[in-house]
Amino acid sequence: MSASALARWASHPGRSRGRRIAEPESPPRTVHQRDRDRIVHSNAFRRLVYKTQVFLNHEGDLFRTRLTHSLEVAQIARSVARALALNEDLVEAIALAHDLGHTPFGHAGQDALQQCMHEHGGFEHNLQSLRVVDRLEQRYLAFDGLNLSFETREGILKHCSRRHALELLAAEPDGPARRFVDGGQPGLEAQLVNLADEIAYVTHDIDDGVRSGLLGPAQLADAPLFARFAHEADAIARGAPAALARRALPEALRRMLSALIGDLVTATAEALQAAAPEDAEAARRCPPLVGFPAPVRLELSALKSFLFATLYRHPQVLRTTAAARTVVSELFAAYRACPDEMSADFAAAADAPRAVADYVAGMTDRFALREHERLTGRRLLADLERART
Ligand code: MG
Repeated sequence: MSASALARWASHPGRSRGRRIAEPESPPRTVHQRDRDRIVHSNAFRRLVYKTQVFLNHEGDLFRTRLTHSLEVAQIARSVARALALNEDLVEAIALAHDLGHTPFGHAGQDALQQCMHEHGGFEHNLQSLRVVDRLEQRYLAFDGLNLSFETREGILKHCSRRHALELLAAEPDGPARRFVDGGQPGLEAQLVNLADEIAYVTHDIDDGVRSGLLGPAQLADAPLFARFAHEADAIARGAPAALARRALPEALRRMLSALIGDLVTATAEALQAAAPEDAEAARRCPPLVGFPAPVRLELSALKSFLFATLYRHPQVLRTTAAARTVVSELFAAYRACPDEMSADFAAAADAPRAVADYVAGMTDRFALREHERLTGRRLLADLERART
């Protein structure tokens, strides 16, 4: 979309707050297109394909990984951005980078690393995503990290504790941590990716939950929000040939996805018209303007609680997460004891616990398992190892 077609409250690439280290730009790409390209070519982005979203890699080839999740978030965010004349390139960059800081093994890995880092400054995955693009990627002779624009970095730093925000501000007073101290919202594109993330995971986790056999039809009949679309799809499927019955679920999910995107576009367009911010800076000073209609927001939050209770806390998921937690915490202990077991730059780092956290967080599920076996002699989640060979 050309800059002139953007809404006045969108983040115009020509008015970017820029990069931390000034660089000549690269026309005809905008600053945000270039951010997106840098993210796609990063090592951390390629590792997302072997990182768990909810189900571990070995549990089936059709389950989402962090990579396919990130692509789905980008698709949803771009659709909404285009409909609202927001900056499509910027939402794509943020979406593709939003999970770069995730540990192996999804939330289990994140919980374990948080525990390990409790005495050493903590671990937050949003902050880690920013660390990846600011420091840990090493592809440029002139600087560490990818030197992304302020707007992309602002979107990546979705949450941040006050303590960490103050640390970031000390190094970068006008950086993206400022709003966690002063208040205010991130740009509209960052707000949008946040909600695109929610739309993506509630939809695909139902799909993966059914595929895994952990979510059954009886449970789904009572699922908030989704049940409505399931009934619509079932009614159509009843009149269709029996061979089409298995298409009822994707049909219901597709309808829910479209409805959520439509609701988000409508409610946000109304909020923007009502608030009529002068520009992107003024939009940051408004209450959140990207959002769902209130009843949909409530249903969505009920659906998230439903997924938490039925899927994320399912005994079968918890069994694998317990093993994953052990892998991460034992890796942390092993590298703390022998830093030379890590690759050289990490072994030489001044802040030893942080270097171990960075090293472990960057791992794919399968590399973490291999390293765990090498260092402890024990094979956990051995079925994953079998699937790999
Ligand atoms: Mg996500």
